[in-house]
Amino acid sequence: MTDFLDKEQIDRLWHLISSARKILIISHTNPDGDAMGSVTAMKHFLKSKKIDSLIVVPNCYPDYLSFLDEDKDIKIYKTQKAAIEEYLLECDLIIALDFNQLRRVDELEKTLRNSHAKKILIDHHPDPENEYFDLVISTTEISSTCELLYWSLIAMEKQANRDNPCKMDLSTASSLYVGLMTDTNNFSNSVFGTTFQMASDLLMLGVDKEKLQHYVFGGFTESRMRLLGYLLQKKMVILPELEAGYIILTKEEQQQFDFAEGDSEGFVNMPLNIRGVSVSALFTESAENIRVSLRSIDDFSVNDMARNFFNGGGHERASGGKLFMPIDKVPEYFTESLRKMKKIITIVLSGLFILITGCTKQDTELQLAQQIKDIDSFTKSQVAGGKRLVVNQGSSRVIIAEGEGDEITAGDSVTFDFAGYVFQSGLGTLFETNVQEIADNLGINIYNRGFDFGKGVIGKGMLIDGLDRGLTGAKRGEHAYIVFPANLGYDKKEVGLVPKMSPLIFEVWIKAIKKN
Ligand code: 5GP
Ligand code: MN
Repeated sequence: MTDFLDKEQIDRLWHLISSARKILIISHTNPDGDAMGSVTAMKHFLKSKKIDSLIVVPNCYPDYLSFLDEDKDIKIYKTQKAAIEEYLLECDLIIALDFNQLRRVDELEKTLRNSHAKKILIDHHPDPENEYFDLVISTTEISSTCELLYWSLIAMEKQANRDNPCKMDLSTASSLYVGLMTDTNNFSNSVFGTTFQMASDLLMLGVDKEKLQHYVFGGFTESRMRLLGYLLQKKMVILPELEAGYIILTKEEQQQFDFAEGDSEGFVNMPLNIRGVSVSALFTESAENIRVSLRSIDDFSVNDMARNFFNGGGHERASGGKLFMPIDKVPEYFTESLRKMKKIITIVLSGLFILITGCTKQDTELQLAQQIKDIDSFTKSQVAGGKRLVVNQGSSRVIIAEGEGDEITAGDSVTFDFAGYVFQSGLGTLFETNVQEIADNLGINIYNRGFDFGKGVIGKGMLIDGLDRGLTGAKRGEHAYIVFPANLGYDKKEVGLVPKMSPLIFEVWIKAIKKN
């Protein structure tokens, strides 16, 4: 039944845990029920084995999950950086739960990468960053990290104490139940046979499901309930032709309704209850950005949508990300992204049809869809190699070395070194550079424009669109690849060594940013 587990992995899990002296348990930024459920379950479980550990999350957890932090000993990195960094450098085992890529821990990423501790990942998102970890237990064919953790712990206990496996303690079981409830949206999505089996086991162990149900899904404050009413009545927009719905929650509205972290939990699912709606989004304005939550039913991949348009990712039917734009631009951006996503799906399907029927006609859109897919594979492999990816309106930036200081925004004058190549599953034909050595090394004479290019004001149409969008958000000193399809480059024009309809990849080094 639990064939996603492998005996060797479970042996290794026990070996790593039992030989550790100082254990750190960690989960992702904006921790949700599955994140908080799994970290606290892990801690309770270790405690039941008389093993000490510390939980760290990158930022605050929502109030409705505070009951999981009974002893108030969960550390929040944002508020206790120095102490946590010290602990991190000393610990000899890190157990990471409910995230796939290290960038999901935001500011903590750097410290984690520098740690010499052994590392375990237990997670249910696609494409885990395998290289970083000593042990990865991962499958997407499961409801939640809490479920994967449950089956792993049960298997580990059976293997370690074959003759006399201990019953799971009630605190561990209760924490695990929370992740099960929240990641399945109260047992309505991503539910497998094993999920109910686990729920049944946990109830038999004495989990108080009514109490947990009340903590997690009930217990609204009056203002939260009124906010929900207001959003449904005044703010929910339904786009029947796109089979979609969305809600935008502004900063002013948050003030008006006494908004607290976690108050909008579950709201993104609301539009999906309307007949004909299969994609839904919630945009929440914050001081730094706009948080994006995406959900779908049927086969529409919001993971692809979040990765291509919203600087994020997640699962096929539940994803998230962030946007950096004025809140009033969001409706148009969302509708456009959705149109593009639907177009790509249609084009890929019709491409398959063309292949199957033997018809070789390739139109521009089909070419572009293929380019987007190729770029996606390239950026995925770079991310798998530990690099950070930022996607801005169809232009992808893979960060080779981080910069520092202010981010590039529209209106800034930017000076950068670059080498431009035709994208051919990676760096193809070099066609232009302002770096003398690159041109020299390749023995080609393409450097003929003098030393004054590699400069421009962002957002003024001075650079090709792909660069304009790709450079946005970069910092001084950053070294990156910026890659984009032909329509954001020279499109249908043949320019120098660049054939028409070429996707492009630029290697860039940001030299200076001047705020205008
Ligand atoms: P939520 O909409 O509840 O914030 O997030 C839904 C799912 O999307 C989470 O379980 C998480 O897997 C994923 N997610 C949310 N925000 C981000 C993000 O910024 N980046 C990535 N890669 N995944 C995210
Ligand atoms: Mn999860």
